[in-house]
Amino acid sequence: MTRILVIGAGGQLGSELCFALAEEYGQKNIITSDLNPKAQNTLEGFVFETLDATDQVALHALISKYQVTQIYHLAAILSAKGEENPMWAWDLNMRTLFNVLEAARNYKLEKVYWPSSIAVFGPQTPKNDTPQFGEKDPTTVYGISKLAGERWCEYYFLKYGVDVRSLRYPGLIGYKSLPGGGTTDYAVDIFHKALQGETFTCFLKADTALPMMYMPDAIKATLDLMRAPAEQVKVRGSYNVSAISFTPEEIYQAIRKQGVNFSIDYQPDFRQGIADSWPDAIDDSKARADWGWSPDYDLDMMVKDILAHLPAYMLKF
Ligand code: NAD
Repeated sequence: MTRILVIGAGGQLGSELCFALAEEYGQKNIITSDLNPKAQNTLEGFVFETLDATDQVALHALISKYQVTQIYHLAAILSAKGEENPMWAWDLNMRTLFNVLEAARNYKLEKVYWPSSIAVFGPQTPKNDTPQFGEKDPTTVYGISKLAGERWCEYYFLKYGVDVRSLRYPGLIGYKSLPGGGTTDYAVDIFHKALQGETFTCFLKADTALPMMYMPDAIKATLDLMRAPAEQVKVRGSYNVSAISFTPEEIYQAIRKQGVNFSIDYQPDFRQGIADSWPDAIDDSKARADWGWSPDYDLDMMVKDILAHLPAYMLKF
């Protein structure tokens, strides 16, 4: 029987992924956990445990208590937040990953999921059609930790046979939760200001193109990768996955095209430097070839869907 422990379940991704996992495996088989006890408010109906994933003993206790067979390890300090306290971000991102990989080895877990990011790329990486393999020179502590994490995931696969799988998510955009401190957060925040009819002040320049993905596509990519037979998962570092690429001005115009009237101004801050070091659009042909990845949403489809659903959620925030 599959029993999944989700670590960092209360975050932007976890608070949606847990419900998709519940549909597939049954809600009682998804054990949700987060450092923040308030996370359980967004995870209604799930078993919830407060867990600091840097605490190896506490992690092992949960695995034993619930006879966990798989872990989805989503806890991390993201790009912008990581720059405010680099040593803390490095320590948390790496220590929690090591704890999960060691637990997977010792408890012979069936599978582990751990997300990487487009933050592994850097200024010397080709900006367009960024290849799966090739130059990576991340300039943020977040990107450095993700690149190191990718290497450790492959190491545990090759050396210990741990079936660990990973995706390099682009910026994730959803309406059910608020983002956790990344450089692509503006593309979530803009919808809130648009619907309130307020001026949106963007922390990136108007023409900054970045790879992005609508949350339903991110969930689909995650579940497709985790369902794939092990022999089809040929990349054991992390797969490039791509969906949409747009600039702040393009998403602003796409929202206005749907009849929403608001204005935008641009006040770039330190996050501009991070965005400038990342690709504009990445090549995901390896994911498409190995396990059949293909996204469903383009920019206009995503904008329409968010505008239709966000008003009902805004009261919660
Ligand atoms: P988030 O910041 O919204 O959520 C992370 C969660 O982890 C939070 O609920 C936080 O309380 C929890 N957490 C922090 N420290 C913890 C600890 N020590 N122990 C247990 N829980 C802890 O992040 P997210 O956007 O949901 O991202 C999930 C994963 O996806 C991360 O690994 C992130 O790097 C990756 N990712 C996200 C994006 C994106 O745009 N959101 C893009 C690329 C990759």
